[in-house]
Amino acid sequence: MTDTKVHLLDGGTLVIDGFHAFWNRGPAGEVRFPCYSVLIEHADGRYIFDTGYDFDHVMRVLPFEKPIQEKSQTLPGQLAKLGLKTGDINYVINSHYHFDHCGGNKYFGEACTLCHAKELEASGNCQPFEHLGYSDMSFAPALAAKRGLKLPPDPLLDMYTPKFETVTGDQEIAKGLWLFETPGHTAGHYSLLVELRNRRPMLFTADACYSKKNLDMMCISSFHLDPTASLASMKRLKALAE
Ligand SMILES: [Zn+2]
Repeated sequence: MTDTKVHLLDGGTLVIDGFHAFWNRGPAGEVRFPCYSVLIEHADGRYIFDTGYDFDHVMRVLPFEKPIQEKSQTLPGQLAKLGLKTGDINYVINSHYHFDHCGGNKYFGEACTLCHAKELEASGNCQPFEHLGYSDMSFAPALAAKRGLKLPPDPLLDMYTPKFETVTGDQEIAKGLWLFETPGHTAGHYSLLVELRNRRPMLFTADACYSKKNLDMMCISSFHLDPTASLASMKRLKALAE
């Protein structure tokens, strides 16, 4: 059996205000942050955790987030650097379905798409204050149609009919690959822990915890469905990290 390997794939950057990144704390001002995907090479196949944002979508719907993304920072570009193609990916896991975590799902027509059952439901029926977060529905064209959203023409989407598998609760989805429920930011947010040989595990918190500073201050972001649940999830991540 080959050892599990993790690669961080650079998906460019976006900007939010400091008062959004650190809710009711700030300071205000632009905070430019990286968007990345995690590629896990595992004995059972290749997994991608989150797929970043789609540049055209952000420019069309949320240009104030000032995306900076080279072609080499798209998923096909990042995988090519590793000698891989999008068709080499077996599973796509989404921490949640905000536009900056699912924008590249459409590249993976062959893969099985895995998420929390509550997240898939929420993305098809979100709260009014979540509309921008859930604005890129290209990851689920059928669901977009149900929401009455018309997707802009995209040759990738003509061929894209994703296969979803939903889960609930904490799950070891493959040996040493753990999904931990961390709701609050959204209804069905998952964090990922990867066990590795010869080093400590890696814990990917996605938007349940934006940064080490958030964790140190126990300060959640202003983007949330439920702030109390968000804070409980951050405490849970701190305990898991320890
Ligand atoms: Zn999010």
